[in-house]
Formats: sequence, C-alpha cells, structure tokens
Amino acid sequence: MTGRPVTRVELELEVTAARQALDHLSEVARDPALSQNGLSRTVEQLEAAIEELAVAAEELQSARSRSVELAQEAGRERLRYKELFELAPDGYLVTDGDGVIQEANRAAGQLLGVGPDLLHGKPLVLFFPEEDRAAFHRRLRTLHSSKMVSEWEARLVPRGGEARPVSIRCGGSQAEPTAALRFLIHDLTAVQRAEEREKATLREHSQRMASLERTKSDFLRLASHELRGPLAVLRGYLSMMSDGSLGKLPPKAGKALPVMAAKLHQMQRLIAEMLDSARLEDSRLELRKETFDLVPVVRNSVEVLLPTAGKHHELRIRAPRQFSVHADQGRVETILANLLDNAIKYSPDGGRVEIQVAGSNAEALVSVTDPGVGIASEDLSTVFRPFGRVVTPDNSHIGGTGLGLYLCRELARMHGGELELASKPGVGTTVTLRLPRAAAASARTA
Ligand code: ADP
Repeated sequence: MTGRPVTRVELELEVTAARQALDHLSEVARDPALSQNGLSRTVEQLEAAIEELAVAAEELQSARSRSVELAQEAGRERLRYKELFELAPDGYLVTDGDGVIQEANRAAGQLLGVGPDLLHGKPLVLFFPEEDRAAFHRRLRTLHSSKMVSEWEARLVPRGGEARPVSIRCGGSQAEPTAALRFLIHDLTAVQRAEEREKATLREHSQRMASLERTKSDFLRLASHELRGPLAVLRGYLSMMSDGSLGKLPPKAGKALPVMAAKLHQMQRLIAEMLDSARLEDSRLELRKETFDLVPVVRNSVEVLLPTAGKHHELRIRAPRQFSVHADQGRVETILANLLDNAIKYSPDGGRVEIQVAGSNAEALVSVTDPGVGIASEDLSTVFRPFGRVVTPDNSHIGGTGLGLYLCRELARMHGGELELASKPGVGTTVTLRLPRAAAASARTA
C-alpha cells in the first residue's frame, strides 16, 4: 500500500479481478468433495463483499463527477466576477485594513492615473490631497471597526492630474472580515460640471432679469417725471377755463370740461402708479399714514370717476355715515380709483356698479362689484402680477397697463391689509380692499 487514494479506474479493475477470481472459486466450490469444508459459505461472503465494493465504486464515480461540475461552476463564477470587476464603470478597489491596495479594476486605474496592475501594494491615501490625508487615516480606523457601509464625498488626485470630486462607498469584505476593505469610487466630475453650468446659467438669467427690472424701473421713473410737467400745465389751463379766467366758454365746451378733468385725473393717477411701481421695485415706497374718514374719500373717488362712466352705468354707494381708518390717504385713493376704473372699464355694456363700505372695529372693507366680463379662475393669479393683463375676445378692445391690481394689492399689504378678488366670466367681479383699523381709530358707524 502506498497510502495514495484509490482511483475509480483502479477500483473498477480490482472489482473485475475479484469477480473473475470468485467465478473461478465458485467452479471449484461446486466440487462435492470440497463443499463440505464450508468453502461454499466463504464464497458467498466473498460475493457479497465484492458487490459492496462495486456499489462503493459507483458512489465514488458519482461523487467525482459532482465535484467536477462544482469546480466548473466555481470557475465560471470567478470569470463572471472578474468581468464585472474589470468592466464596471466605477472604480473598484480592495485594500487591506491599512488601506494598501490589493486589487483594482480598470476604472480605478483610470481614476487614479495608474495601470490597475501597478496599483497593487500602493497605499490609497497617496491619492488623496495632502490636506485630506489625516482625515482619511482617521476614517480608515473607523471603517475597519465598523460593520456598516460608509459613504462620503471626497477629492482624489490622479497621478500627474488635478484633484477630481468623487463619491466613495466603503465596506468590509465578507470573505476576509478581519482585514480587507472594498471601495467603490464614482467620479463626480461630470455631475459637478453640469451643476456648475446650471448655476452659471441661473446666475446669468437672474442678472439679466435684475438688469431688465432696473431698466424698467428707470424707464417708469423717467417717463412719469417727464409727463408730470406738461400735465400740471394742462391742469392749470383747465381750472382757468372752469373758473372763467379765460373768458366765457360756449355751452358745448363747458360740457366737455368735467370729462377733460376726469381724464386728466386718470393720467395723473397713471403717472403716480408708474412712480409707485418703480419705488416698489426698488423697495423705496413709504406710506404716510394718518387717521381720516374713509366715507368721503370713497364718495369723492366715485365722483371724480363718474364722468368717465358710460351712460348705461349706474354707480351706487352703500356706506355708513362715517368710518375712520388710519392709513395713507393718497394710496387709498389710488386703490379706490383703480378698482372703480376697472369696474367701469370691464363692464362695457354698462350696468350697476356697487361700492360698499363696511367692516368692524378691527378692519375696514371697501368692495367694488361690477356686472362686467369677469375673469376666468385660471387667470386670477396673472392679474396681480406686474404688467399682468388677461386679454380675451371680450376685453381685447379695453386698454390698460396691467400695473393697477399689482400695485393695489402691494399697497394693501403694506398697510397690513389685503386685496381680494372674486369673479365669474360673463357674470361680474367683486374686488374687496381690507384695511386694518388702528386701535385708536373711531368705530362709530351709522
Ligand atoms: P389694467 O391696466 O390692464 O386694467 P389691472 O392690473 O388693473 O390692469 O388689471 C389686470 C387685469 O385684470 C386686466 O387686464 C383685466 O384683464 C383684469 N381685470 C381687472 N379688473 C377687472 C374687472 N373688474 N373685471 C374684469 N377683469 C378685470
């Protein structure tokens, strides 16, 4: 005996030889002279032993082929893993517990600027910028003791290259839990560049918008200043014509005077609005608050606008005898003039425009309701934007700047109030101004 394991072929040969020897023995055992010696029993035992030997040989054979299959499967698995490892788009590194590289794929080699084979034995820390190395060493110690996968962003410096941003995922190896660490490194350069491009585009866009806003504000300021002078002159002549300083006017001309005065007033209001919008954009708009009675202010605003209303319009005021508020009177007049002007403008077929003053000790409400063309619900947010106009076939012939409602709401809010709008196309619109009343303001209402 050599101590060497028996091969299957050897075993089969031996089984065949034993069977032949047994056949021979069986022949001999059939001789009556020998059978008495118990030879035939011995032969039977021998037969059984040989059969067992044959079964063992078959078992050995099937165990062998199973282990060959397993070895082939393991080989294929290894190849698959190798291909995945090599062709992975991200850098993949295996290091020992001290961060010395044991294995690296092609992408890792490209990321670090070194062929993957040459990376073997190099400490990974060398590829971190000098100022980040101490932190990486500290992290290595925790990575080593932690069972969790860690993820963080860092910079790596490839050989002969510049630092590039990466995200790193690292975990201990299941196969060698005591020492090995596996690093998956994803290059973030493209992502970062795209983010920077996006930021630059946004910056450029907002600079362009800011410059446009400035130009617009400058234009509004300039135009309104330039228009003020000629309007003051016109106003002067108009008042001289009204009080007869320019002589007696023919009756037809006399009728035109209130309309001219209303239009002049409208223009002055427009200029004031343009100026206020520009001030609002520059955050230079300041309120001059005082306590005054809202009711005569509302009545006066209606009277001033009356000559611009069509003959089919009826303007009705419902108000208490008195209702004092603490607010900037000039700005409240601007809001009222705008709401009334819109109510008249956007009800081209005429009808009743109702102006109501109401409220409580806490707030004053002025609502203007018209039976006009209305606004679709999806357009409600547009009308409060600067220059926000909603042009429909019903109102396309009506002119405007789109500044009014925007400015009115901002002014209401500066007072701590609100401007609310409810509308139904084809039915009409109600715009409500809410103004808080100062604590000292009188609450006497009729
Ligand atoms: P505009 O100078 O265009 O009247 P506003 O800011 O006052 O500017 O109004 C913005 C838009 O809101 C208008 O262009 C119009 O489409 C709509 N609008 C305002 N008031 C009314 C109203 N009472 N009825 C119907 N539409 C209105």
